[in-house]
Amino acid sequence: MKNIDSLKKQIRHHDYLYYVLAQPEISDTEYDKLMKQLEELEKKNPELITPDSPTQRVSGQAVKDFKTVKHSVPMLSLDNTYSADEILEWGKRVKKSIPDDLEYTVEPKIDGVSCTLTYNKGLLTLGATRGDGENGEDITLNIKTIRSIPLALVSLRQLADSSIVHRPSSIVLEVRGEVYIDKTDFQELNKKLASLSEKLFANPRNAAAGSLRQKNPKITGTRKLRFIVHSYGTISGAEKFKTHSEFLKLCEKYGLPTTLKNTKTVNKIEKVLELCKKWETEREKLPYEIDGLVIKVNRLDQQQKLGFTMKSPRWAISYKFPAKQATTKIKNIIVQVGRTGILTPVAELEPVECAGVTISRATLHNFDEIQRLGVKIGDTVLIERAGEVIPKIIKVIPLSGTKRTGTEKKFSIPDKCPVCKQPIVKEKEEEVAWRCINTVCPAQLERGLVHFASREAMDIEGLGDAAVEQLISKKIVSDFADIYYLKKDDFLKLELFKEKKAQNLITAIANSKTRPLSRLLYALGIRNVGEKAAITLAEKFLTIDKLMDATYEDLEKIFEIGPVMADSILKFFKLPATGKLIEKLKKAGLNIKENVKKGPQPLKDKTFVFTGELKQFTRSGAEAKVRELGGNPTSSVSKNTDFVVAGTSPGSKYEKAKKLGVKIISEQEFIKLLLK
Ligand SMILES: [Zn+2]
Repeated sequence: MKNIDSLKKQIRHHDYLYYVLAQPEISDTEYDKLMKQLEELEKKNPELITPDSPTQRVSGQAVKDFKTVKHSVPMLSLDNTYSADEILEWGKRVKKSIPDDLEYTVEPKIDGVSCTLTYNKGLLTLGATRGDGENGEDITLNIKTIRSIPLALVSLRQLADSSIVHRPSSIVLEVRGEVYIDKTDFQELNKKLASLSEKLFANPRNAAAGSLRQKNPKITGTRKLRFIVHSYGTISGAEKFKTHSEFLKLCEKYGLPTTLKNTKTVNKIEKVLELCKKWETEREKLPYEIDGLVIKVNRLDQQQKLGFTMKSPRWAISYKFPAKQATTKIKNIIVQVGRTGILTPVAELEPVECAGVTISRATLHNFDEIQRLGVKIGDTVLIERAGEVIPKIIKVIPLSGTKRTGTEKKFSIPDKCPVCKQPIVKEKEEEVAWRCINTVCPAQLERGLVHFASREAMDIEGLGDAAVEQLISKKIVSDFADIYYLKKDDFLKLELFKEKKAQNLITAIANSKTRPLSRLLYALGIRNVGEKAAITLAEKFLTIDKLMDATYEDLEKIFEIGPVMADSILKFFKLPATGKLIEKLKKAGLNIKENVKKGPQPLKDKTFVFTGELKQFTRSGAEAKVRELGGNPTSSVSKNTDFVVAGTSPGSKYEKAKKLGVKIISEQEFIKLLLK
C-alpha cells in the first residue's frame, strides 16, 4: 500500500536526521504521530509488515539468555599507547615497510561498547557484542531498537528523497563499531533513573553497556543509544573501496553513521601528533565521550602488506588521552549548602591544567570523605576528572621525604550552616550527610517554597519556579509565611507579571489558607514526612499546637511513625525559625486544624504500587488520590500488593509484579477504579 510505504520512508528519514545528522526537522510529538499512523495501518494490514518497518524495532519478547555467536572474522583489539613517542616509533616502523605514498587516517575513539552488525541481502540480520573477540553474544533484538542503525541498508538519495526506491539488496556487509550514548542523553537517563529510585550509571560507557545487555528490548528501546561504524568484517557484493576513508564514505552512503566528519587524513606522522594534541582539548566539544584516537594506514593494499601480529593489526594503533588526573595544592576547604540542605565540603585548589581544562575546585563529597582521605588544608593532592562532573580528590600525595611541611591545617567540621548560621543535623547516625534543616535558610528557601506551593501541598497555582526565584532574589520573600502578606504591587515588580496574573496569584494564595492541616504539614517540608505521614499526624493531633507540644514518646506511640521520623519532627519544631514561621502563618489566618470529614472509600485497604510515568497524574498526585479514597500506596511490590499501576517505560517493579502474579493495570484502568 502506497500509504504504508511512504510513512515508513518518512519515519526512516526522520530517524536519520535525528540520530545520524543530529538535525531533526519535526518534534517528538509529530514523530510519534507518524509512528502511530503506521502502527494502525499495519494492524489493519498485517500482511504488509516488512522486517525493515520502523515498527519492527521493538518487537521481540524479553530473552532469558543471550546466545553465543562466533564472529566470521575475529574482532581484534588495537595496540594502544598513552605516549606520543610511541606513536612516532610506530610511524617509523610503518615507514620502513611502506616508504612512499603513505597516508594515515585519524579518527576519534568513542568510549562505547564494541559491536558487530551483519546485513544480509541488505537487511540487518545479526547484532552481536565483541565478547572475547572470537565469540560474542547475540543481541540482535536490542540492536534493532537503536534508531541510528538502519534496519536495511539504503542509499543516501533514498533517505534524502523518499520517492526513490532502491535497496542494495545483494549485499552482505558486516560492520563493526561502537554503541554509545550521548553525554546529554546519559544525564537525562540518570535523572530519570533517580526519579524512579533506581540505580544510576557511573558514566556513559556503563550506561550504554547496561542498556545494551537488557534482557527486555523494550527497555533498551527507551535508552537513546546510538551507533557509529569504524571497521568491518566480511563484505561481499558491496561497492569496492580502496582506502579506509572510502569505506567510511560507503557506509554513509548506505545510511550507516560513521566518524567521517571528524576523521582527518594526513601524510606525515608529525601531523598525526598535532591532531592528538588538538583533540585532547577539542574532545569536550563532541556530544559523546571519547577516550582517544585511532590512527590507521589509509590504503587497504598497504594495510595488507603490513599484516597482523597475533593479537592486533600492524597498520593501526590507538592513542589514549592522558588520564584526566593532575596534582595540585588545596588552598582552602569551604562548605556549600545544596538545595536539599545537604552540606558539601569543596576544596579550593591552586588552578591546574587537567586534560585541557583549568581546574580550581574539587568536591570532597562529605565530611567523612575528608577523614578517609586524611586531607588537610595546604596538602598536595591528586585530582581526577571524569566526564562532565566536577573533579574529585583521589588521594594526598606526600611530598618527597617529609610528608608535610607542618603548615597544613586540619579542617574542622562546622556546627552551623555556613549560610544561615543555624545548627546542622545528621538525620541518622549511620548517614554521612549533614544538613541544614532550617526552612528559611536562603540556600533552601527557593526549593522549599516551590514545594510548599505545589499541587499536592498548598496547591497555589501560578507560584512556580520562575516566580519563586524572583521573589527570593529580590528579597520580597524570606520565609513561606511572607507570601500571605504580599500585595499586588509586589508581584507587579516581577518579570512577566501583569495586572491579571498578579490578581490571580493573590487569589490563589488567599484560597490556599483553607487547606487542611495535613496539607500544611506536608507543605512545610519536614524531613522524612511525606504526604501519608502528614495525614497521620494531622489526624492524631488535630491542631498544629498539639503537634508542636508532642514529645518523642507521644510520636513514637503512633504506629506509622518510626524513630527516624519522630526525631526529624522534633528537630524541626525545636528550631527557633520554625516557631516564628508558624506564628506568622497563624497571624495570616491559615487553617491550622484538620477537617475530619471523609468521603466515600472505594479503595479501602487496597495496596497500590506505581511504576513508570503517568500521563494524567504526578506520582505523588496519584498516591494522594489513592489515600483519599482509603487505599494504601506503597513503594515496593510484594505478593500482598493488590495493584501495580504501570505507566510508560515501567521499571523493575513491573517485572517483579509479573513474576509474583500481581495484577498489573494501566493508567486508564486506574482512573476507572477511582471513578467507581
Ligand atoms: Zn542554612
